[in-house]
Amino acid sequence: MIDLRETRNQLDRGDRSLTDIVNSFLKQIDLRNAEVNAFISADKQGAREQAGAIQKKIDAGTAGPLAGLVLGVKDIISEKGKKTCCASNILRNFESVYDATVIKKLREADALFLGRVNMDEFAMGSSTENTIYGPAKNPHDTSRVTGGSSGGSAAAVAAEMCNAALGSDTGGSVRQPAAYCGVVGLKPTYGRVSRYGLVAFASSFDCIGPVTSTVEDSAMLLQVIAGFDENDQTSSQEPVPDYLSALKEDEKLTVGVPEEYFGEGLDEEIREMIRERLSQLEEENKIVLKPIHLPHMKYNIATYYILATAEASSNLARYDGIRYGHRSDFKTLKEELTQERQAIEKKIREAGGEEKNVEMEKLAQLDTPLIRLYKKSRTEGFGREVKRRIILGTYVLSSGYYDAYYAKAQKVRRLIKQDFEQAFKDVDVIVSPTAPSPAFELGAKTDDPVQMYLNDIYTTSANLAGICGISVPAGRHSSGLPVGVQFMGNVFEEGKILRAAHLVEKIV
Ligand code: GLN
Repeated sequence: MIDLRETRNQLDRGDRSLTDIVNSFLKQIDLRNAEVNAFISADKQGAREQAGAIQKKIDAGTAGPLAGLVLGVKDIISEKGKKTCCASNILRNFESVYDATVIKKLREADALFLGRVNMDEFAMGSSTENTIYGPAKNPHDTSRVTGGSSGGSAAAVAAEMCNAALGSDTGGSVRQPAAYCGVVGLKPTYGRVSRYGLVAFASSFDCIGPVTSTVEDSAMLLQVIAGFDENDQTSSQEPVPDYLSALKEDEKLTVGVPEEYFGEGLDEEIREMIRERLSQLEEENKIVLKPIHLPHMKYNIATYYILATAEASSNLARYDGIRYGHRSDFKTLKEELTQERQAIEKKIREAGGEEKNVEMEKLAQLDTPLIRLYKKSRTEGFGREVKRRIILGTYVLSSGYYDAYYAKAQKVRRLIKQDFEQAFKDVDVIVSPTAPSPAFELGAKTDDPVQMYLNDIYTTSANLAGICGISVPAGRHSSGLPVGVQFMGNVFEEGKILRAAHLVEKIV
């Protein structure tokens, strides 16, 4: 696929019109989406209207830096007037009333919004199989998953249905699907990009990031979406550097190689492929390799799944069926309650002794209609994985377990962060695989949540530490599937990871 710079050149020269470009993406959606299931809605008419308006600016020489960019947006990012369902039944009919800050900034830069893309429900998952729209499928082999949770974003770009997409990354959800689909996925530093308008999963981890086909496109997109936003108090005031010029720097990069990230559980071919890429770059004098240690890595998954579920259980408490979201039928549930009450009362009249006491207790415990409404709306609205997370999160936050799990995990998070702080004293970036294997078969891990969670072993640490990370294609596995390599950088050092990824991109 051609990159944004070349697309823009063609547009500026008048070789192609934006309408032609949009039409070719729409054609590709027609051809492949029935199978790949990346787009959940493509706004054909809206896209053509936007194309017309942006084309006028191109012709007048007043178009913004992202004219030519045609985007898919993950169904968790608010776009005014569009459904934002988070692939969940509970938000099936929810329409955004405002634009997320990233959408506003991209619109101002003249990016074009083509439609909404598939994801795991509330971004919880590693395969884009937990979704009311049906699983997304890997464009390279449709018997395989796309990865997740931004699987729709990665598959849409890989299948050339758009030239970029927005995803969100809480524990790897931009980087891992990018690796599985053979595209570039960037998770910025926490606070680098505003979260305003991103539906919350785990607020101290959530980041919006770009999925693109090249590193340069990733830099261009990040340039526009990065920066402070008064609507997100966790967004940073740190000035936004020029990422494109960062790509052009040619100072040697010191690349830390953490032994812990290349150990047991990693596919042998992936290990070899990454080693080869690194040796080649070292021979070309582009990088210096330095062995490092991140000793707390073995706690990543446990720490992440305690803290992220705790935050999720609290964030998702807002879906109560009252203010918005799916509401169970009130009349039916009141009738059910009346029947339950009558059945208990009958038993109380007929029973004696201990049994009567048991029934009296049941009557006292019977839900009020409001409580039953909450319970039923949530039971009907949330899918299995989301319920599992809410239960896990509520458990680790409950009194009696809080200190043993939640508070302990917070302390371990600190240690993981310190590992990185220590490592970044000596190295510019840290390299690792993005995922332990190439894309797995659809359905292979759906009944085994622990196996699914273990897939995030290399990506969750960047979110725990709040640092940035990027996945870039490193080559093809013997199965023909793409393999990704990850570079992690210290806070606000996106320039360095982009540069490292660019080096790999040039030799693959
Ligand atoms: N796979 C991880 C999870 O299910 C990460 C998800 C994400 O980054 N949104 O929590």
